[in-house]
Amino acid sequence: MAGDVADAMLDGTLCEICGEFLGEPVGYPVKCADCKKDEPEGQPINRKPVATVICPSCQKRVKEAGLGRHVKDTHPESQQVMKYNHRVRGNTPGGG
Ligand SMILES: [Zn+2]
Ligand SMILES: [Zn+2]
Repeated sequence: MAGDVADAMLDGTLCEICGEFLGEPVGYPVKCADCKKDEPEGQPINRKPVATVICPSCQKRVKEAGLGRHVKDTHPESQQVMKYNHRVRGNTPGGG
């Protein structure tokens, strides 16, 4: 049965680490909940600080990547100002 266990670990029937029975084969190796806990999952928490900028509307420090969303959510009225500032001469209005 040893070969069967190895196969079962590879198709997801058993945990690929400890061999715990998981259920239906899915076609790829799967870890049980206990073994998953040992794996870093999702984004690491201790990353270097993200780039931040000062919101021109409320002077709050926000993530640079999230400024657009912050303005949209918190200062919907100032979006018009930003759009105005970003307007490029020669562009056809109403294109987007
Ligand atoms: Zn396991
Ligand atoms: Zn703001």
